Amino acid sequence: MILRWTGVPFLLREFVQRNRVTILCYHDPEPKIADLHIRKLQHLYNIIPLSAYVNARRSRTVAALPKKALVITFDDGHKGNYGLLPVLKKHQVPVTIFLCSGIIGTQRHYWWKACVDHNMVHSLKLVPDEARLAQLADCGFNEVNEYPERQSLSRAEINDLRAAVDFQAHSRLHPILPQCTDKRAWDEIAGCKLDLERDYGLRVFALAYPNGDYSERELEFAKRAGYACALTIDGGYNTSQTDLFRLKRVRLNDKADVNELIVKASGLWGIVESIRARSAYGYAHMRRVILVRRRISRTNAPKMQHRITLAQKGRDNDGG
Ligand SMILES: [Zn+2]
Repeated sequence: MILRWTGVPFLLREFVQRNRVTILCYHDPEPKIADLHIRKLQHLYNIIPLSAYVNARRSRTVAALPKKALVITFDDGHKGNYGLLPVLKKHQVPVTIFLCSGIIGTQRHYWWKACVDHNMVHSLKLVPDEARLAQLADCGFNEVNEYPERQSLSRAEINDLRAAVDFQAHSRLHPILPQCTDKRAWDEIAGCKLDLERDYGLRVFALAYPNGDYSERELEFAKRAGYACALTIDGGYNTSQTDLFRLKRVRLNDKADVNELIVKASGLWGIVESIRARSAYGYAHMRRVILVRRRISRTNAPKMQHRITLAQKGRDNDGG
């Protein structure tokens, strides 16, 4: 992580991130690592709640937010998140955890954890939802079965965490939304908000797209279901102009050391990756993407848009 010492993360923080809101995305970090990261982030940034940014957007007061504002989020509602409670209390930082309302409080499992290998997880994200479920069934997995071991936060743990955590929505069972039928995509998006509000008494205003995957349809459904914003894992920072239903997040490795944290949180890693991707795919590929994009903007085809989103991401997220 020699990039840390180039001085570029410092420059990005002071000049680019200064007037932008950076949102980090974790999944299930060890409390010890979260402790270290939060301490470092508190030193380098001003940590604000997600709601502060969304409210500032509504009242057009983004410029009044603290400089170098940063939001910390965790996806999925992993059981291990409960261990973060002492860390959050100690540092008094606001964080958001995105919950799968059909998995929390049950012994259901996250589907990608049922797969034996990494390639299978990747390929299952690229097929229609029914095909994903059929292949998982071949491995003996069913998304609504309960198993002896619990993977998600329990109801009691969520209640304990409530004083320190803002809980928001991450679908019911974490399918890849653009691969779902209209019916299922709507049920996952609108149903999660309903479940969390009805069963947990939460005030839900934000949706994190499972695996960061979305198409125009998901944007539309999120708006119609009454969310005020939705979050992707498209890298980058947020301004007073960013589409509220396509908020950008910087994805962090749960095991990242401090060097990696500083480089990735600064956005430098995303920039290096996009340059790398550009040289790897070459000019011809970029040209193809631009052409397809133009076609999509004319046809507004959600499935195609999704394929492009995946292609541009050029990464493989096991967790969602
Ligand atoms: Zn997820």
